[in-house]
Amino acid sequence: MKVKEKSAITREEAQKILEGKVSYYDALARAAALREKFFGKKVRIQVLDNIKNGNCAENCCYCAQRKEGASPIETYLLKSDEEIFADAQKAKENGAYRFCMVTSGTGLSSNTAKRLSHIIRRIHDELGIKVCLSAGFVDKEKATLLRDAGLDRYNHNLNTSEKFYPQICTTHTYEDRIKTVEAVKSVGVSLCSGVIIGMGETVTDIVDVAFMLKELGIESIPVNFFIPVPGHVVKNPTALNPEFCLRVLIVFRLINPDAEIRMAAGREGHLRSLQATALLVANSLFASGYLNVKGSSMQETLALIKDIGYVSEVESGGADFFKNEGELTINSYKATNFPELLKFPKKTKALK
Ligand code: SF4
Repeated sequence: MKVKEKSAITREEAQKILEGKVSYYDALARAAALREKFFGKKVRIQVLDNIKNGNCAENCCYCAQRKEGASPIETYLLKSDEEIFADAQKAKENGAYRFCMVTSGTGLSSNTAKRLSHIIRRIHDELGIKVCLSAGFVDKEKATLLRDAGLDRYNHNLNTSEKFYPQICTTHTYEDRIKTVEAVKSVGVSLCSGVIIGMGETVTDIVDVAFMLKELGIESIPVNFFIPVPGHVVKNPTALNPEFCLRVLIVFRLINPDAEIRMAAGREGHLRSLQATALLVANSLFASGYLNVKGSSMQETLALIKDIGYVSEVESGGADFFKNEGELTINSYKATNFPELLKFPKKTKALK
């Protein structure tokens, strides 16, 4: 799906909404009207599968997978082809429309890109489901290899504004991220690229990155709210509140009217009782947790969707994304209540 609709607000209006200087209800009504115009009452549920975890050489300050970080997460190398295929099969059996694979790390070596392209082709050909990959930096050549194997979507988040980026990572630049987005776009693979709110950025940074995603023509925008995972080195995390988080989603919808806007990681702890209201603006969410943090279960997520009178969809419309619960959960911390983040799970056996 190409995003074509013009932004419904200016930078100045967006800034005012985030600063609380504009009627909350008026902004919400405008964003909700656009959400219903482009996505009706459907909600897309996404489930992540972490196929390689931890030991990343990059130093993104918010991330539990930094090699230099002290987060006691389970680390493992790339799962075996059979394991990944079995996960995809399980996803398909449960009704998945798209299988989303995520790897830690700077990017793909040529060998890993080839290996993943074989896995993608097998999933695509034998299971007939769409495949999304998030695997760091890729150039045009690797993006082409993955596309030709049947990759449907690539995720590469911008995370924040260009100006603020050096505050959250110094091992690579914003420009590096843009280059990957451009490389993927140039070979015709659909793009998913989003943000993390709450790392100390200003409202101007939020407006800047929302417009940058619009300029890049991003089709799917996950809006994550910073979860203070133990071991993070975010210097000045923002004190978020549910109303502000809702205003952020409103601004993303008004700037990117026909993009898929996802209330992503941290929705449970930051939006709290406003999660159902947020679905009036966002048309997509994650269920069953995030990369190293546990979130709401599938049942809780489906109940949330029902409460607001909406329906879950297999991405192009249809039956519920997952019929069963808990099949693809990951090594996790509970995110519905942040104090529980301090209760780490014991490390389990290392996966190969
Ligand atoms: S966000 Fe990605 S690139 Fe950055 S440290 Fe974590 S795994 Fe590595």
